[in-house]
Amino acid sequence: MIDAGTWTTAAYLIAALLFVVSLAGLSRHETSRSGVVFGIAGMTIALVATAVVALGSASALGIALLLVALVIGAAIGLWRARVVEMTGMPELIALMHSFVGLAAVLVGWNGFLEVEGGGVKAGTSELAGSLLGIHHAEVVIGVFIGAVTFTGSIVAYLKLSAKIKSAPLQLPGKNVLNLGALVAFAVLTVVFVITPNVGLLVVVTALALLLGVHLVASIGGGDMPVVVSMLNSYSGWAAAASGFLLGNDLLIITGALVGSSGAYLSYIMCKAMNRSFLSVIAGGFGAPTSSGGAEVTGEHREIDAAGVAEMLAGARSVVITPGYGMAVAQAQYPVADLTRKLREQGVEVRFGVHPVAGRLPGHMNVLLAEAQVPYDIVLEMDEINDDLADTDVVLVIGANDTVNPAAAEDPGSPIAGMPVLRVWEAGNVIVFKRSMATGYAGVQNPLFFRENTQMLFGDAKERVQDILAALKSLTPTG
Ligand code: NDP
Repeated sequence: MIDAGTWTTAAYLIAALLFVVSLAGLSRHETSRSGVVFGIAGMTIALVATAVVALGSASALGIALLLVALVIGAAIGLWRARVVEMTGMPELIALMHSFVGLAAVLVGWNGFLEVEGGGVKAGTSELAGSLLGIHHAEVVIGVFIGAVTFTGSIVAYLKLSAKIKSAPLQLPGKNVLNLGALVAFAVLTVVFVITPNVGLLVVVTALALLLGVHLVASIGGGDMPVVVSMLNSYSGWAAAASGFLLGNDLLIITGALVGSSGAYLSYIMCKAMNRSFLSVIAGGFGAPTSSGGAEVTGEHREIDAAGVAEMLAGARSVVITPGYGMAVAQAQYPVADLTRKLREQGVEVRFGVHPVAGRLPGHMNVLLAEAQVPYDIVLEMDEINDDLADTDVVLVIGANDTVNPAAAEDPGSPIAGMPVLRVWEAGNVIVFKRSMATGYAGVQNPLFFRENTQMLFGDAKERVQDILAALKSLTPTG
């Protein structure tokens, strides 16, 4: 007969394979839905297998606690996922990362109390010699990564939900502080492995909690996308560290998958923003520079929906560059209708998506897919940038920082060097927004004052609907 251990190993193996297939699916628009389904299947198998193992060895109280925790966790998770707005996703993800970090801290402390602290396993021959040394290291590393992830993610949550200012905290010698904390951690780890004791673990926990706060508080404005993916990576490594402590292979594999894919995503985001990972950690992007960038002055011109409809009706090529405002207004549905209508009339319509548009990686792609915009007309920034000069009309729908010419032209600008969509090279630019306010990075946008730019003020969804109505009256039979 096959024993329970073999069943569990088989279940974990299948779950791990499903996670790999899920990640592969999520990397392409066309297969992303099946990627999600594989991920759900893998997680269900992993949860059931873990619960069955736990139920087999737990006391009645343990079983009751496990079931209560499962029900409460599942209920909260389902409720949050159902009510969250797409614009609230980054905050929710940051909060989820903080749970992974907290869990890793608790698992680490539990491992310490069980073994080094003289708990249930003490005195047994289960862990001896070098294995015991490895256990000490697993405890301290798990607690450290978990605590950094925990507080870092909470600060990211507060910044992304605008509960605290997103401007970077500029403590004097902040890089020395970060580096000092890392050196102190390395030294404390060595000392802990030689002489593990509760005092040292308290110091490591406190140090890591403070480092997490400082690390994320020091990063501001435009660098937040990298912070989100960086914390995603940290949460993976924290889970992997817990896997080592609990002797759970699936947790190690899953943690490593999340950790490495998050690290790769951070690399892609850094490349998209022309930043090195180290300079992001060092912070300061989006912070006021000494020059503060050139002052933006001038007159802006306004246009109404009927004027835009006329312009579009006479255009050969149109590019739409969506941004965070499209998500806020939920304008993707009328934007998809407008796209369909213009294409029916023979206008070439394409989308230019900046890698950090919106508030989470792939934000715009998700919204456009939701509204059933065909994938083949949704292009990345690098694929469309060179075509913008030959484009008749660019519709900037709720985007700001990602189309700011100051990034390319003003070396003193806080976002200097960040690649942007060069919309100003097009024949005409229409900017949809509600006011002259700045975008997420808090930087003025000279695009609004260019000669070929006109502002269409108001909620993006309402304005696109107005344009659709105006187009209908221009072409009553269409
Ligand atoms: P921005 O955040 O720069 O600007 C969005 C614009 O949308 C605002 O200027 C706002 O102007 C307008 N807007 C808001 N609501 C509406 C509405 N209902 N109707 C019409 N317009 C509206 O957007 P981008 O997408 O260009 O840039 C994203 C920024 O977010 C970058 O700085 C990026 O670094 C940062 N970020 C990105 C993350 C990611 O992973 N993608 C994560 C965290 C931050 P007004 O108020 O006048 O309407």
